[in-house]
Parts: sequence; C-alpha cells; structure tokens
Amino acid sequence: MQNWAGNITFDATSVVAPQSLSEAQEVIAGSTKVRALGSRHSFNRIGDGACILDTRGLPEFLEVSTDRRSVRVNGSMTYGRLAELVAPLGLTLSNFASLPHISIAGAVATGTHGSGDTNRNLASAINAVQLITGTGEMIEISRADERFDGAVVSLGALGLVTAVGVDVEAAFEVAQIVYGDLSIEALVENLDAVFAAGYSVSAFTRWRDIEQLWVKSRVGDPLPASSAAVLGTLEQIGTKRHPLRELDPDACTDQLGVPGPAVDRLPHFRLGFTPSAGNEIQSEFFVDRTQGGAAVRAIATVQRDIADALLVSELRTVAGDSQWMSPHVGRESLAFHFTWVPNQREANAAARRVAEVLQPFEPRAHWGKVFAPDLFDMGCYTNRGRFVELVESLDASRTFTNDWFDSLIG
Ligand SMILES: Cc1cc2nc3c(=O)[nH]c(=O)nc-3n(C[C@H](O)[C@H](O)[C@H](O)COP(=O)(O)OP(=O)(O)OC[C@H]3O[C@@H](n4cnc5c(N)ncnc54)[C@H](O)[C@@H]3O)c2cc1C
Repeated sequence: MQNWAGNITFDATSVVAPQSLSEAQEVIAGSTKVRALGSRHSFNRIGDGACILDTRGLPEFLEVSTDRRSVRVNGSMTYGRLAELVAPLGLTLSNFASLPHISIAGAVATGTHGSGDTNRNLASAINAVQLITGTGEMIEISRADERFDGAVVSLGALGLVTAVGVDVEAAFEVAQIVYGDLSIEALVENLDAVFAAGYSVSAFTRWRDIEQLWVKSRVGDPLPASSAAVLGTLEQIGTKRHPLRELDPDACTDQLGVPGPAVDRLPHFRLGFTPSAGNEIQSEFFVDRTQGGAAVRAIATVQRDIADALLVSELRTVAGDSQWMSPHVGRESLAFHFTWVPNQREANAAARRVAEVLQPFEPRAHWGKVFAPDLFDMGCYTNRGRFVELVESLDASRTFTNDWFDSLIG
C-alpha cells in the first residue's frame, strides 16, 4: 500500500479495511500495533504501522445539533463530502485546506490548515472526538474535557477516531480573484496589508517574485484601505489559473471574482479532479507571524539552491490556537509551503536547505509533510510531555504509536 503521492510504500504487513465499528474494535483488540489511515494524503511515515486500518469503508453518518452550530460525522468522512451533505441545510464550514479530498480525522490529526488571518487550523473547528483506544474501549473527549487540547491534533497516536463533532456556520459566499506579479520586497514591506486583503489569501512563488496572489473574499466583507492600496498596484489576471501555471486550471475552483459557495472557492482544487500536481512531494514550515518578513527574505536567499527541486511555493497565514501538538499553538503563523518534484532525495535536500535558513526563526514543521527532524526543536511543544502522558493513559501498551512517533515525540 502506498500514500496518495506514491513517495511512501508502507511497511505494513497487513492492511485491514473494517466495514463497521465492531469489526474495527475486533481488529484493534487483536493487534499489538495498529495505525489508522485516512485518505493517505500525507507525505511521510506518520501513517505507517505493522497493521494499517484503512478507515475508508467505515459507515457514513451525519447528525445535526438542534442549534445547527455543530454536526457529528464519521471521522473518515472527507471535507468535500461533509460540505456536500450540509449544503442543503444552509450550512458550511468556516474554512478548508487547499483540497476537499482529505478525511477529517486524518487532516486534523496533522494540524492541517487553510489560510486567513482570523482562521485557525481545521482542528480548531472540531468540538469532540470519539475514539476506539488501543484497549478496544470507545471513549469521547469533548471541548469541556481538560484533555481536549491534546486530543484533536493527535498524530494518530491516541486511537481510531470514529466520530468527530465539527463546528459549522450558516452558508456564505466567497469570490476569488487572482492577481499577478508582486515583488518579494513589496510583499515583505506590505505583508500585513497583503494578507488582510481577503478572508483567505495565498501567495504563490518560486522565490524570484510572487507570481500569483489568490485573494478569496467573503461577499460583503469590507476591504481595508491598506490592502486596497496594494491590490490597486497589481494586475487582475483575466483567465483562470492553476498554482502550477503549466497545469490545466479546470482542476481549480472558480476564480475571476464570480461568487460561489465557500466549499467551491476556499479550497484551491475541486473534488473529482487531481489536486495540485499529483506526482509530487510536499514540505511546509511555520514561523511566528511577526518574523514573517525576515523569514521570506531568508528563503529568497536560497532560491537557487532549491530551484531544481521546486515546483511552486505557497505562503499563507494561520491564526494561533491552544492545541498541544498543533504547529500553530500559541502563535500567529506565516506558513511556507513547498511543492517539490517527485524525487525523494532532491525533496529531502531542498527541505533541509529551507529548514537551515529558517533556524533563526524557530520554525515548526507540518506533521504530514517532509522535513528534516533534526532541525526542528520539539521543545517548542511545551505540552509534549502531557501529550505523551495522555497517549499512555489511554493505552499503556501504546498500540497506536509507530516508529515515526516514537523517534520524534518520545
Ligand atoms: C495535494 C495536497 C494538498 C494539500 N494541501 C494541504 C493544505 O492546504 N493544508 C495543509 O495543512 N495540508 C495540506 N496537505 C496535507 C494533508 O492535509 C495532510 O497530510 C492530512 O493529514 C491528510 O489527511 P489524510 O486523511 O489523508 O490523512 P492520512 O495521511 O491518511 O493520515 C494522517 C495521520 O492521521 C492519522 N489518521 C488518519 N485517519 C485517522 C483516524 N480515523 N483515526 C485516527 N488517526 C487517523 C494517521 O494515522 C496519520 O497519523 C495536502 C496534501 C496533498 C496531497
């Protein structure tokens, strides 16, 4: 079995795809080591294990709370499917990652995020998780529980997430406009104005200049004067674009300022189409937003070193949160994403080069992507010890941890 990108062949000696929760409980009870897998969109061995539990066949369900602010669904449901199910109810999610294809439990386990100054990562919209722990016991941890901040960005180590409570809101419309050609220096000088230009903003670059600025605005939201001043200097692109300019933009959500439902604008890629390049490897690093400009300048200095490995980079903002193992815990972040060529050696070397120049900025890495673990200080996760205690309190024999987890988290 491989991950979606095909850069990881799992070491698992067995892959089991239970069709019911009782079947999943039986598999877990009969295994000494097991690892749940979602839609397999991670790029490293975070999802590997001796026995892989493929969650995609678990039954689908949807329950809507009476106040219509929350829904409860199976953890294996994808964001695209959830958005499709709640749309007829006039509901949606406040934010999405770049693709709707990923499972909810898998995405929040790694701290997956979208963009937006006021948007926290997707785990922050989870209000409860139901788990089958390594002992086979079914438990529920919800927001009021003191363990909750350790339970959502779980790195897959706490158990099989069978159900999640997800905050939803009244459906809203978003319009997406792509702007062209902003210099790196202009971005640095106007960093706050650029990222305040929309509800969700992405800057695509190969580190010579910002080739495309994707601004996604909630219809009716005011545009700050400083952002209007920057956007006024940029060309509005008149044809639809893919982040990788040479690829067919048909795979992307509608642009050109045409308003549409949040799920059809906030992700870059449409469900039913291949997101991004398909054949690729990814890395992503986060720095404190206040050091964002200096970090942009630092990465630009290694443009030549990473050029051959790089397909495209994307800069986004993520609001801070309180989840123990979230890469965005306790700080507003600027996110630096890299789509690399599908060559593991080249991707590893380029990721290392970027991590090296980011050292002065205390970078954190995306848990689901390629990074150089020795260059990341796990001490920044001040609740890491508490998290390991939580893992062991739920299952002393650590059924759900794997080599990746043991070497990084302890
Ligand atoms: C094209 C592409 C675009 C991407 N864009 C973004 C983006 O915009 N923002 C971003 O932050 N990331 C992005 N990613 C990364 C992706 O969101 C993460 O890797 C995410 O974790 C993938 O979710 P998944 O369901 O595929 O998880 P998997 O890769 O299947 O699993 C990830 C982890 O979750 C655990 N897990 C999965 N399901 C369960 C479960 N039911 N119970 C317990 N543990 C479980 C696994 O054990 C593993 O540890 C992108 C990836 C791709 C391929």
